[in-house]
Order: sequence, then structure tokens, then C-alpha cells
Amino acid sequence: MNRPYNFSAGPAAIPEEVLATAASEMLDWHGSGMSVMEMSHRGKEFISIYEEAEATIRELLAVPGQFKILFMQGGGLAENAIVPLNLSRGGRANFVVTGSWSQKSQKEAQKYCEVHIAASNASPAGHTSLPDPATWSLDAKASYTHICTNETIDGVEFQTLPDLKALGSDAPLVIDFSSHVASRPVDWSKVGLAFGGAQKNLGPAGLTMVVVREDLLGHAMAVCPSAFNYKTVADNESMFNTPPTYAIYIAGLTFQWLKRQSEAGLTGIAAMEHRNIAKARLLYEAIDGSQLYFNKVDAACRSRMNVPFFLRDERRNDAFLAGAKARGLLQLKGHKSVGGMRASIYNAMPLAGVQALVDYMREFETKQA
Ligand code: PMP
Repeated sequence: MNRPYNFSAGPAAIPEEVLATAASEMLDWHGSGMSVMEMSHRGKEFISIYEEAEATIRELLAVPGQFKILFMQGGGLAENAIVPLNLSRGGRANFVVTGSWSQKSQKEAQKYCEVHIAASNASPAGHTSLPDPATWSLDAKASYTHICTNETIDGVEFQTLPDLKALGSDAPLVIDFSSHVASRPVDWSKVGLAFGGAQKNLGPAGLTMVVVREDLLGHAMAVCPSAFNYKTVADNESMFNTPPTYAIYIAGLTFQWLKRQSEAGLTGIAAMEHRNIAKARLLYEAIDGSQLYFNKVDAACRSRMNVPFFLRDERRNDAFLAGAKARGLLQLKGHKSVGGMRASIYNAMPLAGVQALVDYMREFETKQA
């Protein structure tokens, strides 16, 4: 089937093979006589789906044994409250503001703890750079330091994680990796906790994956809802409450798809990263080489996943989007807070999809010239 290329920022494209498998298993999963949606989360069928999903993502992301992987609900925005409820002990937390999502995170955390802004990249041009970690003012009393490692709206990505220990801080690093999880490896030696909604790179909305170092469990504030207490969730293998079973199943199929990927002698996440670098390079080169399109983000921190770009003549935006849609290039409109265009090129977007976009952009520019 010739499906259009979907550039949505999330919920985003899911690999076609995953959708096809889910369709073929919809009425009867593996001879069980049930759809996965109809199974008890405590039955042996679903437990096997859950265990395989957990083991596969642990292997793919090389998550060390001292980290728990939790499958929760509430998305990234709920985690903005759940993290301080679990880690802040009502004290202080460091935040580095690098775009809309880290900005939202620090605002939400203020309900539960004292927020110290250790650095910010806000400028009249918007969020277009990353403050050098050497310049961050990390509060020594903070119980954790939060960063958003890929700003989905602004298109700013950390290419390496900061080494807080080397900066003289013992506070664990919390990363919101919602929009680039599984697109590249994670250096877990620098991370205390990572969270991400599934609806960009892992599967459907409704599932949040949390990877948390065991020593950070068990410190939740008394008011923390039980279903959001990481220790309670971990002690119950993510089944304290009913987990988002169907979303976990689709994520599990996506993890198996990721495992099958190979490229340039690489497999799994390394193959994905190789492909994602090639996709991003193709698109940014097309933008930079054009007279019509531009991207505002410093080259050193441009996101591989979310590429915001603008037309120098904004009056052409509607025509650009209509032409794109007619060619099967969907959901390219930029976030309302920044305008312009945004191409989200997550794992499920093949290089051919980015090539089709670049071809269209050149054609549109030539026609308009
Ligand atoms: N963090 C980041 C980086 C995101 O991109 C998003 C969603 N776009 C969120 C948090 C919020 O996720 P949710 O809507 O699932 O709560």
C-alpha cells in the first residue's frame, strides 16, 4: 500500500509493518481468541507481551540493571508533576530552559518544589541555541537537575548529555527524552531518570516510558498519588493500576521492528541513529542551500527529529502546505507558537520520505522564483 509520508510531531507515524501486524492480530492474538485490547493485564498472554516489550527496549537502549523501566500513563506533562513529587522531597530542583517543553516543566514543578533556573537559552530570536553546561549555575542543594534533551517545538537537541558530576553537582540528571527516545543511544552513566511519551518514537499515545535508577525510588512526597509513585509502580511491575495495555503491545511491536533494522553494518538503535543522521543532513542541507527556506537554530544543536523551518515570504505558507498535501506529504504545519513549518522525521520516517519532501521543497521554490 502506498501511504503518504506523515511528518506529524506526535502522535506520529508508526512503522507500516507494525500497523500491518497489529491489523492481522486484531481479532485473535496468537490463537488466544482475544484481541490484545480484551485481555486481562494479569493474564499470561498479556504478561508475555509486557515482558517481551520491557526486555526488548532494555536491550535496544542498553539500560543497565540498576535502572527500572516503568510503563505509565499521563504523558510528558504528567511527568512534569510526577518527577518533583517523587524526587524533590519538597526542596529545590535545577531546571535548564531550552525551549517550550522545559519551560512548561519548570512551571509545573513550581507547584511541588522550589525551582532554580540554572540556565536559559531564551533570546529575542526564540530558543535557538544551547547554553554551554560549563556556564550553568547549578544549585548545590537541588535534589535533581531537569533538562529536555530534544525540544520538539523549537528543534533544539542536546547532541551529548551534560556530565553533572564533572560540573561539581551530585544531583541526578532528569531528562525529558519524549521526542528523541530510541533515535540514538543514551549514556546512562550521566542519567538518573528519563521519561518520554510514546506517541513520537515508541508507539501510540497513552503510554509513558520512565527509566529510573533504583536509588531514586522510595523518596516520594506523602501527597504523591499512589499510581504515580515510582516505587509503587516499580514494585508492581507497572501493574499497580491497569497499564495502557494496547499501547504497550504496539510499542512492543515497534521495539521488535527497531531490533530488525540494519544499516551500514549496524543494527537496532545504532542503525536508526545512522539513518536519522542521514535524514537530518539531507533536510538541513536543502534548507540552508535555499533562498526561500530558513531554520534559526545553531548548527551545533539542531534537532535530528524535529526540523522547524520558515518561508521567507510567509504569504506562501498556505500554498506550500496545500502542494505538500497534494503530493502525500502530510502534517507539515509548524507549531502555532512559532509558526512556519515543521518536519518531524522520527524513526518511522524513511530516508525516501525526507527525499520526497526535499524534492517538493525545491520544486516549490523554483516555481515561485
Ligand atoms: N515533552 C516533550 C519534549 C514533548 O514533545 C511533549 C509533547 N509534544 C511533551 C513533553 C508532553 O507530552 P504529553 O502531551 O504526552 O503530555
